[in-house]
Amino acid sequence: MAKSKTVYFCNQCGAESSKWAGKCNACGEWNTLREEVVVVKNSPAGWVKTHPSDRSVTQKINEIASNNTQRMIMPDTELNLVLGGGLVPGSLVLLGGEPGIGKSTLLLQVALKLNEQVMYVSGEESAEQVKLRAERIGIDNERCDVLTETRIEAILQILQEQKPAIVVVDSVQTLFSEMLEATPGSVSQIRECTGKLLRFAKENNVSVFLIGHITKDGSIAGPKILEHMVDTVLQFEGDRNYHFRILRTLKNRFGGTHEMGIYEMTGTGLAAVQNPSQIFLAERDEEISGIAIAAAMEGVRPILLETQSLVSTAVYGTPQRSSTGFDLRRLNMLLAVLEKRCGFRLGAQDVFINLAGGIRIEDPALDLAIATAIMSSYQGVVAPSKTVFAGEVGLSGEIRAVQRVEQRITEAEKLGFEEIVISKYNKVQIGSSKIKIHRFGRVDEMFSWLFG
Ligand SMILES: [Zn+2]
Repeated sequence: MAKSKTVYFCNQCGAESSKWAGKCNACGEWNTLREEVVVVKNSPAGWVKTHPSDRSVTQKINEIASNNTQRMIMPDTELNLVLGGGLVPGSLVLLGGEPGIGKSTLLLQVALKLNEQVMYVSGEESAEQVKLRAERIGIDNERCDVLTETRIEAILQILQEQKPAIVVVDSVQTLFSEMLEATPGSVSQIRECTGKLLRFAKENNVSVFLIGHITKDGSIAGPKILEHMVDTVLQFEGDRNYHFRILRTLKNRFGGTHEMGIYEMTGTGLAAVQNPSQIFLAERDEEISGIAIAAAMEGVRPILLETQSLVSTAVYGTPQRSSTGFDLRRLNMLLAVLEKRCGFRLGAQDVFINLAGGIRIEDPALDLAIATAIMSSYQGVVAPSKTVFAGEVGLSGEIRAVQRVEQRITEAEKLGFEEIVISKYNKVQIGSSKIKIHRFGRVDEMFSWLFG
């Protein structure tokens, strides 16, 4: 006999509820609960009986082999970086991102470049479409098998037989288990199928990449509900108007987060960007106000980027504050500091902030460049174009020390900048740098030096 019950799942966080409600109790989102009929069909073997081979075993902790050292180096420098130095065998990696951003291309090109047996499970595209994509990438590899299947039980059977070293599933939202009656892409199906793949990965020491779509309207259950199940969560993002893409680590059981990989979309797939600073620094002949260059860090990598600001008198009552790539609350804080501690009347001004190239970076060291860009636009005075800024601004207007200042200085010097402004509290331990280092303790001191 099949047991069936109606439950409601939150599309955002996956929380289960027996009653419908307008607001999810777990995450507080509105209109995210979806009804799902969960029918658990009896499997032929029965649910309670445990097969002898399914018995759990204990291991002595000193006898457990540590596989941390045997990472599999992927044929992709950026991917290795965000994974924390290569792929840990048996790990389940979720790659999330909006549809069309290039997730399939990224993992297919990795599959094609690998020297290992790979199974590319496609639930989205036909085998011919996958082949077409592979032809665009321009690599042929006889070790890459394509399986067009969406039934998880059928997929697992093939995986058990063929035992590839790496599995790519495109996408997790197309999978379904015949044990459940819910539709593919529903919370219960996504959870069930991911659970089965997780088990397969751990038992066979095979790494599985899951592609998961994130849609803004939440029409399909998002990968967020899987984040606690998988070992690593990577997010692929980028603006469709720009040809580069960013790969971020949101969670990693085997390494740090806040690592970032940068790719360029080319005619033949995604190419790793070796010198990221160059794409975030716009080239221009004339000097204009409202621009300052920041020396930011993303993970272990220094990135120089252009911060842009436009300050203009508010036409309508309430002044607008808008920011692309920089935290809006942080912007409001900076504006308050500039008003209160430096005496600039920004209260009646519209302030717009933009990080060049559409990149989003969370690094407090951006503060100093943002504040400079704002003042440059407000006063209509050009900030020196060969100067880079790296400092956090505190509530009393003090410039605070930032991490890894030496790396920022080295990057600025490498890219031909002549001066860098940092906090006077930052200790610099590099000897002979050609770049001139200016140190200030307060923002107003720096402004009088910059703009007189
Ligand atoms: Zn929720």
